[in-house]
Amino acid sequence: MRLILLGPPGAGKGTQAQRLVAKYGIVQLSTGEMLRAAVAAETPVGLQAKDIMAGGGLVPDEIVIGIISDRLDQPDMKKGFILDGFPRTVPQAAALDELLKKKHIKLDAVVELRVNESALLQRVETRVAEMRARGEEVRIDDTPEVLAKRLAQYRSLTEPLIHYYSERRKLLTVDGMMTIEQVTREINRILSAIGATEAKVAAKAAARKASVSKAKPAKAVKKAAKPARKAAKAAKKAVKKPAKAARKATKGKAAARGAKAAKKVTKKRAKG
Ligand code: ADP
Repeated sequence: MRLILLGPPGAGKGTQAQRLVAKYGIVQLSTGEMLRAAVAAETPVGLQAKDIMAGGGLVPDEIVIGIISDRLDQPDMKKGFILDGFPRTVPQAAALDELLKKKHIKLDAVVELRVNESALLQRVETRVAEMRARGEEVRIDDTPEVLAKRLAQYRSLTEPLIHYYSERRKLLTVDGMMTIEQVTREINRILSAIGATEAKVAAKAAARKASVSKAKPAKAVKKAAKPARKAAKAAKKAVKKPAKAARKATKGKAAARGAKAAKKVTKKRAKG
């Protein structure tokens, strides 16, 4: 399964991505996480991205496109992936289209988590409080001021992707205001509806079939039941026929004749 998760900061992309990773065994590609790792490791990309990220701006397209392109070439991508935080601009989406085309990879869907903007600040504040409580380092861009900037960037640069993917018939929108559990359930439901989970289901079915064919006694019982099933089918048919005749009998001139015929058939069957 190959997905993109789309939504503003605080929409729940990271949370849902982790759940999809656990359920389908695919890989999460979060450009935010990758960039934070680059900043921490002080790589050339990290040094370039550090101040931009701290201020809530967007890192140049070429940088993130380069990161994603390299990552897509790695062998673990074969299992499928979720892109979280990428693409974030229309040029990034166009570059991704090109990359996927070149690498012969097909995107299954873009899942948009739609949330009320008024809820986002509260969500990010809760996330910060929870991280502090766990003793984790808090992101420097998770302040109300920087969040406002990130939201503005989302609105002007990322939101156009909703139209971009909807035009390409890839967009699936989920109400991100529901509980985490409900959102997960809804995502799973729509993914199975479009058949994105087909491969996994097919693999499961094949495994089931293999284990059933090993169980020979079950097969023998099935075989023995076959004549009985055939007989039941024939009996059902026999019962249906007089009913048909009776129905016919209620119509038009041949009413009496039809009823009589039906009766005759029923009697005959009852005898035999
Ligand atoms: P959030 O979705 O909560 O804003 P992310 O972890 O996805 O957080 O991103 C954090 C920051 O990393 C962004 O504000 C931006 O500076 C940078 N970043 C992440 N992904 C991209 C991207 N695709 N293009 C440009 N900048 C990005």
